[in-house]
Amino acid sequence: MALIIQNGEIVTSKERYVADIRVEGEQIAQIGQHVAVESGDTVINAGGKYIFPGGIDAHTHLDLPFMGTTAKDDFATGTIAAVAGGTTCIIDFVIPDKSVPMMDGFAQWMAKAEGKSVIDYGFHLAVTWWDKSVQRELGLAYNAGMTSFKTFLAYKGAIGIEDSELYQIMGTAKELGGAMVTVHAENAEIVWQLQQKLLAEGKTQPIDHAHSRPPIVEAEGTHRAITMAAIHDAPVFIVHMSTADALEKVRDARFRGQHVYVETCPQYLLLDESLYRRPNWEGAKWVMSPPLREKYHQTALWNGIRAGLVHTIATDHCPFDFHGQKDMGGTNNFAKIPNGIPGIGDRMQLMYTYGVTEGRID
Ligand SMILES: [Zn+2]
Repeated sequence: MALIIQNGEIVTSKERYVADIRVEGEQIAQIGQHVAVESGDTVINAGGKYIFPGGIDAHTHLDLPFMGTTAKDDFATGTIAAVAGGTTCIIDFVIPDKSVPMMDGFAQWMAKAEGKSVIDYGFHLAVTWWDKSVQRELGLAYNAGMTSFKTFLAYKGAIGIEDSELYQIMGTAKELGGAMVTVHAENAEIVWQLQQKLLAEGKTQPIDHAHSRPPIVEAEGTHRAITMAAIHDAPVFIVHMSTADALEKVRDARFRGQHVYVETCPQYLLLDESLYRRPNWEGAKWVMSPPLREKYHQTALWNGIRAGLVHTIATDHCPFDFHGQKDMGGTNNFAKIPNGIPGIGDRMQLMYTYGVTEGRID
């Protein structure tokens, strides 16, 4: 009752070769030339095709309540799309509302995923508020397998945290030994001020979303996170990096010997802010934070991957319908457009097509 995949070209991090694979249950039992087929086995002829290890998307948001609505994919539809695109494991985010105990949040997200996800999954824990009880719970979360704590420097007044809280969270992660703080690095106060200024000037459209979060806002958040990590002599992981400006902060920190890790996403490598100027408000489809950037940032990010400054490519998958969600309240106010785009099913193909076959990465 095994699955036999014949004649595919197996691609690993080190080599490529044509061979057969025998899969028993969830395990690869054998790789070799002419693997024996037994009665009852299912045989797939993969001649002329590549076989990759299952991908891990370390940044997804399934069934996430956000900005007055809920991200469109749940753990069933989202993970089905993921596996169709070669991703066999996701790391989603437990994001408790402020004042909700962390482990209650964990139970909420486990309930969303259990019985629905068709692939493996794990969770980062977003620490959206802080007191002594949260500090205690981070130890429980760590023991439950949530070893990375997500912090939002953006989203003032919602899930964002203050510097004092970031300081405490980093200190606690360090004490736990091996926990990693991950950071959405945008300066919430500047974003808030620019949003109010632009809206007051009648600048309400999707392109103004990008103008409310210029590259320097991400560079500042990145630098602040790196500074906090240095104070605690702790590693830090910056998610969905979108700018050359922020990457320069990382490069400088790594030259100083700091352990700074970086994620970027296919959208920041392949799309640019001109999409926000599409007619008929279509630019709202790409409203996300950080926003799409001018094209030259893409070159820096690809170079960052090659130089070892960028370590993971994840999607930040967080889709909303164009009609019924994106346009709920944001047609005359970019700040009310739910932030997020889909991508969970496309990551591997995009990186292969535009990264490998176009010679940017190997
Ligand atoms: Zn995210």
